[in-house]
Amino acid sequence: MIFTEDANTAAAFLRKAVPKMIEHNIVPNPFNFTLWYSYYTERFPELNRELDYILDRFKTCPPEMSETLLLKYIIKKDDTEHKDRDAFQIAIDALLEDLSENIGQAAAQSNIYLSALGDNVAGLSDANLDENHVQILGELTENANSLCQLNDALQVKMSSAQTEIESLKKQLQESVEEANTDALTGLSNRRLFESVYQKFVEEEAELEISLIMMDIDKFKVFNDTHGHLMGDQVLKLVGKLLKAECKKPIIPVRFGGEEFALLCLGVNVQEAKEVAEKLRARLSSIALSNKRTGEKISPVTASFGVAFSKDIELLPELIDRADKALYQAKENGRNRVQVAA
Ligand code: GH3
Ligand code: MG
Ligand code: MG
Repeated sequence: MIFTEDANTAAAFLRKAVPKMIEHNIVPNPFNFTLWYSYYTERFPELNRELDYILDRFKTCPPEMSETLLLKYIIKKDDTEHKDRDAFQIAIDALLEDLSENIGQAAAQSNIYLSALGDNVAGLSDANLDENHVQILGELTENANSLCQLNDALQVKMSSAQTEIESLKKQLQESVEEANTDALTGLSNRRLFESVYQKFVEEEAELEISLIMMDIDKFKVFNDTHGHLMGDQVLKLVGKLLKAECKKPIIPVRFGGEEFALLCLGVNVQEAKEVAEKLRARLSSIALSNKRTGEKISPVTASFGVAFSKDIELLPELIDRADKALYQAKENGRNRVQVAA
């Protein structure tokens, strides 16, 4: 059992959880309630740390983050599921490679054997053979032909199995991609961001990494003025812009809410600053309109914080420095790029 509190203790947690959810505009649905009830039980210290961080950062807990945290800390499904899936992917890759190799080898060997048998039979037919031998030879040829047909049938079966495995592999790949993708913008999400950073640090330790944090300016006012649906359209537009403008080795992700992060692998701070500046200028020049009403809307702008990490650094530290620069960009008037000191 996860929750063992008696009625009085549970009621005390409830009295804390509900106002907290209301204060931070968190929909009081059963998922969120479980999350915030758990927060007050202090049973999952890591969960509390992450929730504190998210509230501090976003002033709310966006729904997609609530769900991730619930799965990760309370249902304890998230990571193991992803790890299982990754392991399954590797296993299926190896199996497929093995299978292709074996099919190829088996087919080649049986073809060699069949052609040698054919030659032998042809050689013998010139010799002086009695009736008994002729009959044995006939049977041998017949068996060889059957083997040949069996071999053909086996190859057809094997190749259809191979097609099926390929299609399963594709489905698996799609589900991995879905888990790494933010549904609204189609960009990658934080999960991918963290794993790409980790992999890069492990494999290319000597290379530099820059991080750009991007935050839409006054987005709350935008939502209040034009509605949440228009706000969602803007987030989609930003997703499109980032996809179009950022090519490898720059990986854009939706960090959460109206914040985006661009991981620039092997890119120095000057180049990263130029990327940010280009994005800033592009976004602030896109005129918007409400398709439904035809109303013209001024462009939205964003502020950018750029930080650079040459030595191996923990991701949260790099994020923190980029965040501070972003904060500075906001302080200095928004719609600008600031590089971390
Ligand atoms: P600042 O310039 O200081 O960043 O101001 P801001 O209003 O952008 O910042 P604040 O953190 O006060 O508000 C963020 C807003 O972003 C509030 C929230 O409703 C909105 N937001 C976050 N996620 C989404 C989303 O998925 N869709 C929409 N439409 N709005 C979102
Ligand atoms: Mg923000
Ligand atoms: Mg903002």
